Amino acid sequence: MYPVPNSLSPSRVESFLSCPLAFRFASIERLPEPPAPYSTKGSMVHRALELLFTHPNEQRTVATAEAAFQQATAEYLVDPEFTLLGLDPAAQDAFFADAWVLVQKYFAMEDPTSVRDIGLELRLEAQVGSLTLRGIIDRLELDAEGRLVVTDYKTGRAPSANYEQKSLAGVHFYSFLCQEVIGQRPAAIRLMYIRTGDVITATPSEQSVKFLTTRTTAVWKAVEKACLSGDFKPKEGPLCKTCSFQPWCPSFGGNPELAKVEAPVRFAAPNPA
Ligand code: SF4
Repeated sequence: MYPVPNSLSPSRVESFLSCPLAFRFASIERLPEPPAPYSTKGSMVHRALELLFTHPNEQRTVATAEAAFQQATAEYLVDPEFTLLGLDPAAQDAFFADAWVLVQKYFAMEDPTSVRDIGLELRLEAQVGSLTLRGIIDRLELDAEGRLVVTDYKTGRAPSANYEQKSLAGVHFYSFLCQEVIGQRPAAIRLMYIRTGDVITATPSEQSVKFLTTRTTAVWKAVEKACLSGDFKPKEGPLCKTCSFQPWCPSFGGNPELAKVEAPVRFAAPNPA
């Protein structure tokens, strides 16, 4: 039996649906995980764009982005999310060079001087029954007609048509949060895939928001049931390739009950020399 969480975020919902056992390790037992270069790079690019947007519109040039990027680099050089990657100098150079390429690619997708942003990295939460839904919106802005638009930066590749709907599930989560907290349903939600230049736009509707609350409530009930029974099943899939918890996964011959003791040792930060 495990404590039942009383809040869910879009990433937690998707994590439970992808693999209940990995969800248990990460979100219920809160075991440490080593950082992954792609997610650290994504966070750093988000930070550089956030810093760019703290400047007035007319100053949002590539030169300002470069200064923002330098600030983000300085922050990440001392952040465990970066230092625990253990990159050698050549790999570090390649990491930052690619992150800068992503920031430059962003400028090919839109002109930040014309964006009417009203919020950056907004933390919103709303209640569905006894459950709190939480999410962070990268950027909230107004379109030409003054309607709300949510923009979410993605640094991975755009999903294929088959997976597009799945990637939009989180989007409807943001839409629900805006409706509950700000009192207005966004006119559009945009996913900007910076590496490939793709943009996926969703138009939230009353029906999509209703679907979101029904789906999330169903996931929460499944989480609750798993917590009370202690039965979090492994679900093999594409995520197994990069899953930090593979050594304790029964699908790979591991014992889940050893994770609590072994994971903190295996993933402990090395002592500074
Ligand atoms: S290795 Fe695969 S099945 Fe096992 S916990 Fe990780 S994601 Fe789940």
